[in-house]
Amino acid sequence: MIAGRARFRHAKKIERLAGYRLPELAFAGTMLETLCSRINYDALDHAVREQILNFFNAFLRCDCRDSPLCGCPEKKFAQEILGLRKRGLDHRQIASFLLDEYGIELFPADILSFLEDSVHVLEAIADVSRLQGREEVAGRTAETIRLIER
Ligand SMILES: [Zn+2]
Repeated sequence: MIAGRARFRHAKKIERLAGYRLPELAFAGTMLETLCSRINYDALDHAVREQILNFFNAFLRCDCRDSPLCGCPEKKFAQEILGLRKRGLDHRQIASFLLDEYGIELFPADILSFLEDSVHVLEAIADVSRLQGREEVAGRTAETIRLIER
């Protein structure tokens, strides 16, 4: 799970604000719950506050009952990386985008292996779809693979 490797650059600042120990991992349960609780973000400097707000809007908005521990944030994060790749960013550019936008640190090498793994999964989906005669799904999946691999 790629989300499990994402770290907040300013985790210490969030920890000080919360008043209890927090892991650096952006998608750790305690971190997600802290970000969803009513802590006083105004105490953070502007740039960090913006990043947390971006993170919240991008990954933590869902209506599940057990949100934010429902699995949606991690899935949305993986989708975000695939989306950035489809828009033409390479793994290094994706890493620097995530840092600017969300204050998230992720090694470019981890992003690269996530993209490779995703292609393998998509290839399996395309194969199964073709076997089942679901040409439209197979075609769409092949197009996604092309966009990730180019
Ligand atoms: Zn959810």
